[in-house]
Amino acid sequence: MEPILVSACMAGVPCRYDGRAKTDPAAVRLVAEGRGVVVCPEGAGGMPTPRPAAEIVGGDGADVLDGRARVVDATGADCTEEFVAGARAALAAAEQSGARRAVLMARSPSCGCGQVYDGTFGGALRPGDGVTAALLRRAGIEVVRSPEEL
Ligand code: SF4
Repeated sequence: MEPILVSACMAGVPCRYDGRAKTDPAAVRLVAEGRGVVVCPEGAGGMPTPRPAAEIVGGDGADVLDGRARVVDATGADCTEEFVAGARAALAAAEQSGARRAVLMARSPSCGCGQVYDGTFGGALRPGDGVTAALLRRAGIEVVRSPEEL
């Protein structure tokens, strides 16, 4: 059975910045079937729950990995190191489980794929990946926003 990396908040874990989950029944099913490998990169990188919302300032997740952008929370604190550490932990979980595909929560500064908030905390989106999605893609892992896209 093919292992699939799954954002923990989609699998029902209340690990989002606001202390809630964003449960997707299809993601829960992946876990129940024994295929889902659950990971919360922000938690794995040392961020507490709940925590202030964070956005990528100055680019997207790929830019963060290359040192051209930072992850900053709503209080102005820089949490780039934690987000990069969490991305590395997610990649390690994929490698250990053999997962080559991942279902990741949309628009998150970690898990978002294809679209993230633009760093102004005004609700606007920009094209790009979160830090974890960018690192997984660099490792050749396919990332999607919904189990239906698998
Ligand atoms: Fe969900 Fe990913 Fe944010 Fe964790 S880091 S709460 S798994 S979107």
